[in-house]
Amino acid sequence: MADMSVKSQSGALGSAGVEQRRSLAPGQSGFRLARIAGIEVRVDWSLAVVFWLIAFNLGTGLLPARHLNWSGGLIWVAAFAAAALFFLSVLAHELAHALVGRARGVPIEGITLFLFGGVSRLGGEPKSPGAEFLMAVVGPLTSLVIGIICTALGAAFADRSAPDGLELSSFGPAATLLLWLGSSNLALAIFNILPGFPLDGGRVLRAILWKATGDLRKATRGATIAGPRGRRVC
Ligand SMILES: [Zn+2]
Repeated sequence: MADMSVKSQSGALGSAGVEQRRSLAPGQSGFRLARIAGIEVRVDWSLAVVFWLIAFNLGTGLLPARHLNWSGGLIWVAAFAAAALFFLSVLAHELAHALVGRARGVPIEGITLFLFGGVSRLGGEPKSPGAEFLMAVVGPLTSLVIGIICTALGAAFADRSAPDGLELSSFGPAATLLLWLGSSNLALAIFNILPGFPLDGGRVLRAILWKATGDLRKATRGATIAGPRGRRVC
């Protein structure tokens, strides 16, 4: 784990998100957005790039292709709303890491949302395999729960009596947004639980190996599948 400052990042960019801790992540860049449960939330300017990419892809691709009867205004409102809701989901994922970490005695300096998602600025490290395990696993679990809830709500909002049945084209804005957000969060959960650094799953695996061997170094070697020497990613 990091020597002085540990960073925990949770991925955005849809299913291509990344999840990692590293020492080179943005820290105090950007602007302060809010303070939630005593944790400072900052937004890095690079977030605007991926925010626009998500909105642009939805506004020019999926939404107009599937919803021929939607106006241009509705399409772009839905596209930007989807991008905003997705980053709120990433924030929830990262907050879960931070809050559980703090509850387990890890100093939390704050969270920064940036190009690749979220990064938690930690002032220390989990002191035990159990703390590491809980702090790592709660992020994907949060995304999983959000994904299941949004998918269920989206299905409830979907107009199954429409001529197209369960086709996305027959869904209204609420059902469309919820189903997109649900699938995005499920993808985020699945991607981040993959068992390799810098993903959450790598930290879960390391916690298990740490518990089994009682040796943090061996556990780190066993769980690390990538990461330059000298950059302690977990
Ligand atoms: Zn995470």
